Amino acid sequence: MYRTVEAANGVQIPQLGFGVYKIEKGAVFEKTIAAAIQSGYRHFDTAKIYGNEEALGRELQKSGLPREELFITSKVWTTDLGYHATKKAFEQTCRKLNVTYLDMYLIHFAGPHYEKAWAAMEDLYMEGRIKVIGVANFEIEHLEHLKKQSRISPMINQIETHPEFQQHNLHDYMVRDRILHEAWGPLGQGNKALLEHPVLVEIARNHQKSVAQVILRWHINRGIIIIPKSSNLQRIKENSEIFDFDLSEEEMDRIRQLDTGNRYSVNPTGYMINPIYIQLMKLFVK
Ligand code: NAD
Repeated sequence: MYRTVEAANGVQIPQLGFGVYKIEKGAVFEKTIAAAIQSGYRHFDTAKIYGNEEALGRELQKSGLPREELFITSKVWTTDLGYHATKKAFEQTCRKLNVTYLDMYLIHFAGPHYEKAWAAMEDLYMEGRIKVIGVANFEIEHLEHLKKQSRISPMINQIETHPEFQQHNLHDYMVRDRILHEAWGPLGQGNKALLEHPVLVEIARNHQKSVAQVILRWHINRGIIIIPKSSNLQRIKENSEIFDFDLSEEEMDRIRQLDTGNRYSVNPTGYMINPIYIQLMKLFVK
């Protein structure tokens, strides 16, 4: 449960974290975070756009866990890309989470002015306000572009990854550049066909584990950081019980064959970084 992956600057990142995207607010959120803490999760992944930074901060505070035992990630939203805008967004996020520093802060999408946002993140990193700086949904072209103008390279890239969309090209590029691979949607966002895939069902049966556990273990063996989400108390625990079995090389290979190259979610080079769409978003995201 406490297995970590080392970032390029030596910071240890818990390889299994907990995502909080779209968890219902109120009592469900409270119970979910309490159950995650009870199951041993200490790494939490939120973002400004999820609208639950404040609720997460409150629940983490309630847990009584010392700040240094927690690993908290948030992300700067596309409407806040820019040097000053990103610094302001970072301060707002810290206020909402009730923390003085973030363990990890990511650029959510490679929208216009992401280079300026990166410069702000580099400064915040050098001031000790962020322990690990990184990006999300960046393609090789964005990473190459950033490399040419940055003082510090991104240490992590959080990207859609699951057995049907394994990201081998980007993964190999990131390994070469010492950029950690973090999977969002590690369970394919609950895709039924994936969770009932006969190959995965067979492997799961052989280990007396669930398909979800097999998928999560496959990510772990690839060295990928994962942040599965669930608000089902039994599944929260189930998703943490992935270190008491292992997959053979043959099983890893069988799962590798399931890659179809199909994204289940948005293409990050699509509308999410379109300047007109972003202008429109500015009207709604405060
Ligand atoms: P996920 O792959 O974690 O899937 C979550 C869904 O899978 C649940 O809603 C549930 O339906 C199902 N599930 C969970 N555990 C299960 C189990 N044991 N058995 C069967 N079904 C199970 O998808 P996600 O929530 O989209 O991704 C995880 C986290 O990644 C998010 O919560 C968020 O923190 C982050 N994220 C980041 C981005 C980004 O753009 N950077 C995008 C999406 C999500």
